[in-house]
Amino acid sequence: MSSMHAYTSERIITGERIVVNGVVLVEGERVVAVGSGHELAIPAEAQRHDLGDAIICPGFVDIHAHGGDGADCTEGTPEAVLTTARRHLRAGTTSLLPTTATAPLECVWRAFDAIIAAHSLQQGDGARLLGIHAEGNWFAESQRGAHAPELLGPATPEVQERLLSYAPHLTRVTLAPELEGALGLIRSLAERGVLVSGGHSDALYAEVCRAMAVGLRHITHLWSGMSTVRRIGPKRFSGMLEAGLVEEGLTGEIIADGYHLPTSLMKMAYRLKGPEKLCLVSDAMQASGLGPGEYNIGGLSAVVEAGYDVAVLVDRTAFAGSVSTMGQCLQHVVRMVGISLLDAVRMATVTPARIINRHDIGRLAPGAYADLLALAPDSLAPRRVMLGGRWVN
Ligand SMILES: [Zn+2]
Repeated sequence: MSSMHAYTSERIITGERIVVNGVVLVEGERVVAVGSGHELAIPAEAQRHDLGDAIICPGFVDIHAHGGDGADCTEGTPEAVLTTARRHLRAGTTSLLPTTATAPLECVWRAFDAIIAAHSLQQGDGARLLGIHAEGNWFAESQRGAHAPELLGPATPEVQERLLSYAPHLTRVTLAPELEGALGLIRSLAERGVLVSGGHSDALYAEVCRAMAVGLRHITHLWSGMSTVRRIGPKRFSGMLEAGLVEEGLTGEIIADGYHLPTSLMKMAYRLKGPEKLCLVSDAMQASGLGPGEYNIGGLSAVVEAGYDVAVLVDRTAFAGSVSTMGQCLQHVVRMVGISLLDAVRMATVTPARIINRHDIGRLAPGAYADLLALAPDSLAPRRVMLGGRWVN
């Protein structure tokens, strides 16, 4: 039997364009071709599958997710990482960057080791793992959000050395660039191909620009945990937020769960950055997929109340990560922010993939992994999920 499959539908969004009455040709785990029915001849040996009115698009790429189904990627077990990957795959995320949070250093290193081990244990039933995103511990205490304040601060030379020893597995590090020794660390990480992202930071605009000169390229969850306009004497100074919004050398991300940011701010980020420099992230924590209850995140207690799809610290001072999925974020920006479906899909697929320098995921194009979704045309909820040429849901 042929291993070539032709998936047809009324509407295909490749990540870059919309194809009406289109076909995606898949052989093995890769896409072979994409086009409209009349520009692309379906080979006679291909098995045909008509997905009707479902919208075919690439699987979601989430470059900032901490957990799901009760598991937390900072826990330090490969099983927690795999549970997280399974939870998000079910909801349409075919590629996921496991993200650690602030923790005692020995726990951070153990979590890194667990994420590395999880890569080799993957069975094709969870989202593709994209390396490690370290979010913590090198943050400004004043912008801690849901990170334990006593663990925050600059990385000592010994800690920097240990962190750099993980460089082959690190995809991304979020840090505060104004901390002592941070510029050297940014340079060393960037030289090793790691995406360095500013976040949980009190930096002035000029400090962000200095960090850009040595390799800072991205800003973590815009508005959440960062400096903005302040007055020093009679003068106004802008901060990391403004740098993230207006500097062309920086990409950014928003937690589009409908709680972290009001509609107007999501619209502002979209207008200023555009769909090629702004991506959606879930920032999902362990309660994603579970619902109301009390949870422990990095030693802090958080609660998800009935009727609210978001986690907050028990003292209600900060959000503690979302419980949403990339699919819900996509639906939210289309319905509430008014972003076109094409741009929303880009921001959930090809743009995050490019931000972490991956060109084999997040798009339907020859040579890319056949990770695709069939979305319901009205609700935009994923009806079916394909990972590497195989339907998994
Ligand atoms: Zn954060």
